[in-house]
Amino acid sequence: MKETTQRKTSVAKILIVDDKSANLVSFEAILNSLNVEIIKALSGEQALSKLLEHDFAVILLDIQMPGMDGFETAELIRGNADTKEVPIIFITAADENKKTVFKGYESGAVDLLFKPVDSIVLKSKVAVFINLYHQRKTIEIQKETILNQHRTRIEEERLKVVLQMAGATAHELNQPLMMLMGNMELLEMDKFAPESVKKFAPRIKKSAQRLSDTVRKIQTIESYKIKRHDEVTDIMDLDKEIHIIYIEDNAADYKTVELMLKEYANMKLSWAETITLAFQKLTDKTFDVILLDFALPDGTGLDFIEELKKRQIADTPVICITDQGSDKVASRILCSGAYDYLPKLGLNKELLIGTINSALEKSRLKNNLGLAMKKMADMSTHDMLTGLYNRRHMNEVMDQEFGRALRYDLELSCIIFDLDFFKKVNDNFGHACGDFVLKEFASTIMQNKRESDYAFRYGGEEFLLLLPQTDVRGACMVGENLLTHCRNHQYIYDNNSFVITTSMGIANITVCRPKSGEELVDLAGKALYKAKSAGRNCLYVYKRESNSDTLFQRPHGGKGLSYLKEEFAGILSKTKKAAMDSIALLIEEVGGRQLENETQRILIYISLLCKKVGLANPTMVSIQNVAFLSNCFKIMLGNELLLKKETLTKEDKKKIEQLPCLQGGLINQLGIFKEEKKILLYKREWYDGSGCPEGRHKEEIPLGARIFSIINTFVAITSDRAYRKKTSHEKAILEIVKKAGTQFDPILVDSFVDTLLENSLLEVTGPQIDSMKTMMHNKMPI
Ligand code: GH3
Ligand code: MG
Ligand code: MG
Ligand code: MG
Repeated sequence: MKETTQRKTSVAKILIVDDKSANLVSFEAILNSLNVEIIKALSGEQALSKLLEHDFAVILLDIQMPGMDGFETAELIRGNADTKEVPIIFITAADENKKTVFKGYESGAVDLLFKPVDSIVLKSKVAVFINLYHQRKTIEIQKETILNQHRTRIEEERLKVVLQMAGATAHELNQPLMMLMGNMELLEMDKFAPESVKKFAPRIKKSAQRLSDTVRKIQTIESYKIKRHDEVTDIMDLDKEIHIIYIEDNAADYKTVELMLKEYANMKLSWAETITLAFQKLTDKTFDVILLDFALPDGTGLDFIEELKKRQIADTPVICITDQGSDKVASRILCSGAYDYLPKLGLNKELLIGTINSALEKSRLKNNLGLAMKKMADMSTHDMLTGLYNRRHMNEVMDQEFGRALRYDLELSCIIFDLDFFKKVNDNFGHACGDFVLKEFASTIMQNKRESDYAFRYGGEEFLLLLPQTDVRGACMVGENLLTHCRNHQYIYDNNSFVITTSMGIANITVCRPKSGEELVDLAGKALYKAKSAGRNCLYVYKRESNSDTLFQRPHGGKGLSYLKEEFAGILSKTKKAAMDSIALLIEEVGGRQLENETQRILIYISLLCKKVGLANPTMVSIQNVAFLSNCFKIMLGNELLLKKETLTKEDKKKIEQLPCLQGGLINQLGIFKEEKKILLYKREWYDGSGCPEGRHKEEIPLGARIFSIINTFVAITSDRAYRKKTSHEKAILEIVKKAGTQFDPILVDSFVDTLLENSLLEVTGPQIDSMKTMMHNKMPI
């Protein structure tokens, strides 16, 4: 068997076959100057056996030999697959005829020489074959190199896939592992856990710790540890410029490297003489490779690499070129993160280029692998179509957030969305359009959620929002906003424009009290089902009653309750105002100026007194409405009675007493005047309980009614009537003060008098007021 090493030797071998040893010696003398190894054989048989041992560049074969002649030998050589390509030059006697020549070529000779052989001719012919032999060998080696590179590449790819799988597995393992360890810690802290259980805790913890260490090791495998190519090969894209910086304080050393790289037009070399200068250049520009001397004026190569890491540009491959040629320095440099190490002694162009290429290739693979690992990690947690978290990740997050909410007594809400009649989108506009809608809907969710909320693709066209620290009201608000957005949003695809609504189910941890995150999702799902069956395009909240009956609540009109209240109040006040205006118009036709003035005064007094006693605006408006309505109704119900000049009969009085009830009946028709109705109904009640219609007393009488009754009386007495003249302020106040504690609330009377005084609305002198006040304070409740 021939040795591979022999095949690769650069010295070619020649086999000379002749039965005369004198001939062998003379041929050998001629060919010796060719720098070849000459093997001799005295017969055809010997030649064949030499062919088994060696790989020849050419065979010189004598034709006439005893035993097996040259033709027979040639035929056998051609018949063997291993040797059939070896060129043969026949050597024959000069007297041989043409027939011999023909036979010689036929048996596979590539040339024929006649004896006596001319030494120069022989040498030049043999030289041609030796050249051919070398060329063939070079091609064979190149072929093998290429194959080797191929194998290396395949090996790298395989390694890459294995690492990716390992990374993904490590990632998958991490979450349950963290849960396990966290729970073990809780168990250890649990004072009430039985001793028998506690005994095992440290052992389980230790095993979990070992698992965690292994996971960490897998996650930090040095992904770029790949084999160096055994031959120098150009693997670069020739058009791509490679920017190299050489940090070197010795100008001669820099020049040497510059010279070596000169013929590579794509390699752009920069020079920095110190570490400081190098970092200046590295900040201004990106370099593909860093060549680094070890001993530099402002530090060592190790210092440089450390600084590089700190500045987070450690991805740039570093090759250390140094004359500090000890193995120790080399290994320290490589351990610190340099890609390769080259001694200055014996450095040549091929070695330098080969190392640069290999470093670039390693860096490329490392980056690719980094990206691949990131992509794998992303893929394991994200949905590829929408970019939202996937359902698997949801289970992890749900457990985590549910646990956290329970531990710290925090709010947690969950909304499940399902697009309505989504199948129709696929059916009508195609699956690609369906995908487009899903993506756009997902991005709407992303844009509308808070940073602390989680958005998941729960199923095909189902999505889930997990809202930590959000109560049910907040969740409804988020849901309603999205509902509104969907109702108003036109999806436009391929000239088609359409609207897709969504249905939602909400479950909240405080409202539903679920036992697990899973149950929370389950309950939200039930609410969603309810929303679907209620006609879609709406949201339902899951509620659990104390007797564990369930009920679903649909928040009316959408937004939160406080929002609703505000909206309602706004609408009501506008409606009331409109109603008032209409009634005023109606009254204008019936009543006169006088009443209008009276009403104006009442309205002013109400506003001042309410301010004085600190009443909220809506209550004040209600009392003013009462004043207004009351006067209006008076006109409508009993105009003649009011204008009656004669003394009132018993019947008249009875009619007047019934007035509030009649007015109340009228107001009943205006359901929105709830407050006003109460005031109107009880404005004739007395503070001491002797009034009508129910004989209520003190605080049983609505505050508005107590206020109105004082002001109304004061204004009535101080206004002219058809049947009497108006009373003076002094007498009127005296009358009211007299009735404080019986007819009127004494505290309110006191405040009313003060209000009139403070606003200079009383035509009364100082001493009169003082005496009235004394009188009133005597009546005030203690
Ligand atoms: P509704 O929910 O209102 O009851 O009606 P629907 O038509 O939306 O309900 P259904 O669950 O029957 O249909 C969901 C459809 O969503 C069926 C499926 O073809 C489609 N779908 C699920 N995943 C994808 C996806 O990734 N891309 C597209 N284009 N369609 C999907
Ligand atoms: Mg130096
Ligand atoms: Mg659907
Ligand atoms: Mg569905």
